[in-house]
Amino acid sequence: MSALAAQRCFQHAAREAVARCPECRRMYCRECVTEHGERMLCASCIRALREAPRSGRGRLSGMITTLRCAAGVALCFVFFYTMGRFLLTMPAQYHEGTLWQTTWERMKTAAQGEP
Ligand SMILES: [Zn+2]
Ligand SMILES: [Zn+2]
Repeated sequence: MSALAAQRCFQHAAREAVARCPECRRMYCRECVTEHGERMLCASCIRALREAPRSGRGRLSGMITTLRCAAGVALCFVFFYTMGRFLLTMPAQYHEGTLWQTTWERMKTAAQGEP
């Protein structure tokens, strides 16, 4: 580590560098680097990493979530509205004697028959 010891901190010329920032490739002393995830980064690089992706990605993902929610609600509304319209336009006699209705009637009579 002799090569590393000869290096000086980018911000503190009097101090020995102990780590090199993998982002900006500059040497820093112990006080200037901070552990960020699995790496040792300098303060300015951490700040850049924190600010840059969040402002862009965060807003976009929020917009996508909002759009998805709106699309889901709209889809649900259109689906049930169409179903309602479809059922209303169907002739009344179609509903009579359908399977679900006969089953329901049978269940109702069975329930009434029980003491
Ligand atoms: Zn850096
Ligand atoms: Zn330093």
